[in-house]
Amino acid sequence: MKLRYMGTAALERIPAIFCNCDNCRKALAAGGKNIMTRSQALIDDQLLIDLNSETYTHFLSLGRTLWDIEHVLITHAHCDHFTFEEFCCRIPGKTSTAKAEKLKVYTSQGVIDNMWDTLNTRIDKYTKRIPERVEFIALDYFKPVDINGYRVTPLPANHAEEEQAFLFLIEKDGKTLFYGNDTGYFDEEIDNWLAQNGKYIDLLSLDCTKGDVEKTYKTHMSMSEGRSIADRFLEKGIIDANTILYYTHFTHHCGMIYDELKVAAEKYGFQVAHDGLEVEF
Ligand SMILES: [Zn+2]
Ligand SMILES: [Zn+2]
Ligand SMILES: [Zn+2]
Repeated sequence: MKLRYMGTAALERIPAIFCNCDNCRKALAAGGKNIMTRSQALIDDQLLIDLNSETYTHFLSLGRTLWDIEHVLITHAHCDHFTFEEFCCRIPGKTSTAKAEKLKVYTSQGVIDNMWDTLNTRIDKYTKRIPERVEFIALDYFKPVDINGYRVTPLPANHAEEEQAFLFLIEKDGKTLFYGNDTGYFDEEIDNWLAQNGKYIDLLSLDCTKGDVEKTYKTHMSMSEGRSIADRFLEKGIIDANTILYYTHFTHHCGMIYDELKVAAEKYGFQVAHDGLEVEF
């Protein structure tokens, strides 16, 4: 399996769009991997996780468009993960050459309801035609589905609970990815399900919005909270010393840019993702 981190930042990005704080100025000056866009991931060049406002430029950086993408998983409806207005570009008359007649979008019923609540308030003629070329498929926590040869299990994020935000366990050909953002520190319901179902994770990718700073809010994690999750998984045999560990989803408020996050992460045994990083496992 190949995971490509298309974007690795939270909502505001690094540097943040309207910000001139020390961290944002530092990121701008340093450039390269220190520039982080909104979080999105692509598996084996075909299975997309999240569709946000950066999707178009993420794909342009690969020299491609989304014409041949057939399946998209959506974690939740926060706008750094889901910009559903993009679907208007897929209705008949706007695109006639996409590979699949209908793009299949898999997410929670809460996210689908939230999207329609918003789109139904629009007066433009395009949004109502989205279902002609996009099919929305509601998934449930802990219920695996087969998506184009991938076994995908949505797990409960400690984040946007009102719309049932998802973390994803994705399995194919004996390899398993745990895609774990956005989420706060989650309880052992997830560990127990993974252990009871004999799951072993090859790549554990966790939310690190707080960076190496302990903050009291509950809907994202710090480096130490991510390490604590890894320790729990280790104890239950869900991961081992061969598991690849990555932090992702950073905010400019964490006070560090990529070059510094990378060094800080070493003491927790994690690596730091950056935009464009590809990990094969
Ligand atoms: Zn986010
Ligand atoms: Zn800033
Ligand atoms: Zn979010």
